[in-house]
Amino acid sequence: MATQHQDILIVGAGLSGVGAACHLKRQCPGKSVTLLERRQNVGGTWDLFRYPGIRSDSDMYTFGFNFKPWTEPRVLADGDSIRNYVRETAKEFGVFDRIRFGRQVISADWSSRDALWTLQVRDDASDETETYTARYLLGCSGYYNYDQGFRPEFPGEADFKGQIIHPQFWPENLDYSGKRVVVIGSGATAITLVPSMADKAAHVTMLQRSPTYIMSVPAIDPVSKTLQAVLPEKLAYKLNRGRNVAIQRAIYEASRRKPEVVRRLILSLVARQLKGTSIEMRHFTPSYNPWDQRLCVVPNGDLFKALRSGKASMATDHIERFTEDGILLKSGETLKADIIITATGLSVQLFGGIKVSIDGKPVSVKDSVSYKGVLLEGIPNAALVFGYTNASWTLKADLAAEYFCRLVNYMDKHGHSTFQVPRIPDVHTEDTVLGSLSSGYIRRAADQLPRQGTRAPFRVEQNYLADIPMLRFRPIADDVLQFDGKVAKASPVERLAAPLRAALGR
Ligand SMILES: Cc1cc2nc3c(=O)[nH]c(=O)nc-3n(C[C@H](O)[C@H](O)[C@H](O)COP(=O)(O)OP(=O)(O)OC[C@H]3O[C@@H](n4cnc5c(N)ncnc54)[C@H](O)[C@@H]3O)c2cc1C
Repeated sequence: MATQHQDILIVGAGLSGVGAACHLKRQCPGKSVTLLERRQNVGGTWDLFRYPGIRSDSDMYTFGFNFKPWTEPRVLADGDSIRNYVRETAKEFGVFDRIRFGRQVISADWSSRDALWTLQVRDDASDETETYTARYLLGCSGYYNYDQGFRPEFPGEADFKGQIIHPQFWPENLDYSGKRVVVIGSGATAITLVPSMADKAAHVTMLQRSPTYIMSVPAIDPVSKTLQAVLPEKLAYKLNRGRNVAIQRAIYEASRRKPEVVRRLILSLVARQLKGTSIEMRHFTPSYNPWDQRLCVVPNGDLFKALRSGKASMATDHIERFTEDGILLKSGETLKADIIITATGLSVQLFGGIKVSIDGKPVSVKDSVSYKGVLLEGIPNAALVFGYTNASWTLKADLAAEYFCRLVNYMDKHGHSTFQVPRIPDVHTEDTVLGSLSSGYIRRAADQLPRQGTRAPFRVEQNYLADIPMLRFRPIADDVLQFDGKVAKASPVERLAAPLRAALGR
């Protein structure tokens, strides 16, 4: 097949890829854009994960796109609703037809001579390799491996006579009615699975090595619902979004500044949920501070309800080994099981496993420092969309896409053909861009993630309010970024215009 050329190639049609394509359509209307998506559907995460109860643990007013109101009253949404929202957005903004489904990008090579990316892409249907070229490459491929989850080997697994399932690969017709289920894990997935399976299963036990902070949130927020009822759709969305950004940030800041106070508050709310039961607080009392790892939320306390009903229980212990009919714990206790679910997490992978090279020479993002949390040092005309870990992913994905659009327009306006973040060794640290969280999957991925810089614009702050001026308003030329090999300085007019635009919010 002949090489297909586009101005911009986007890898992935999940929330980030579809969002970026919509931003490009609106802000860079003259550009040709194609999205290459290895699956047969949009939605990414929300198409892949199909376990019972799959839902967001971010509120949809901040997890939704900034240009497409989330109009349902539910604060947390299920997987189907999020996938439909992404699909509807892609159709409404005219980017659905730009998606090539069943196309897995295998490699991407940058040619310095031609100022062009060349991608080798596997077509699922024909099993043939296609070649695409583009001036710009936008990685919207998420942050984990779609082909395998993180799955430690447990001793004695072969002895177990029941089924072992990883939530990333949920069997379509799994019948767990009347079965004893053990869910291994303590993250958002385990916390979602337990109450969702408790009704049909004989019993569900959540087995965790160590506890997580869990907060109950209302499934329907009365304030948001009222605003939705009385105000025009867009205004209600804006207000609900602004309010939730502020609440998220306040909880995060309070957790950083006064961890003991936030810890006491969360634990007292849990204690209230467990009042009058014999369920021990130790299952909900982590050894770390709030927001050292992602905080988990449950709608209307559904997990606590399942525990109170006796249909579900918690075990905080270590696994000695799997047995024929369950799990033997280090404490000597045995958990009987017909089904064991290993909600043990994700396997981090950046750029969707694509082999990235420059003039045929392989590059690894772990050697690159991040620039504004969007570009990567040493990789020209490319960006990697990576959302927040301490707030909704999409807040950052939207800002990153907006910045990318501004950059593309700047290139056109000044007649440049390449941009590049130059190597500045003294800003490098050993910390990764996700250094602020100590979650297992992030620690395991330390040798794959881009590095954190010592200062702006190389430091990834994980702070939406700080990123807005940096990504939306500051001049593109900033004495750092190189265009056609030369550092560009902002003109006096651009410098003056930036704070003005920030003040006017445009
Ligand atoms: C179960 C679960 C729940 C989550 N809940 C939340 C939440 O509540 N809030 C939150 O902020 N974050 C959450 N996250 C993180 C979540 O992944 C992001 O919020 C968001 O969905 C990421 O969107 P994305 O488009 O960047 O990546 P993804 O959703 O991962 O989509 C990436 C897309 O790229 C495609 N792709 C990858 N590699 C290639 C390749 N080589 N070639 C072609 N296509 C490729 C994939 O098929 C996929 O469609 C959750 C993650 C999981 C796993």
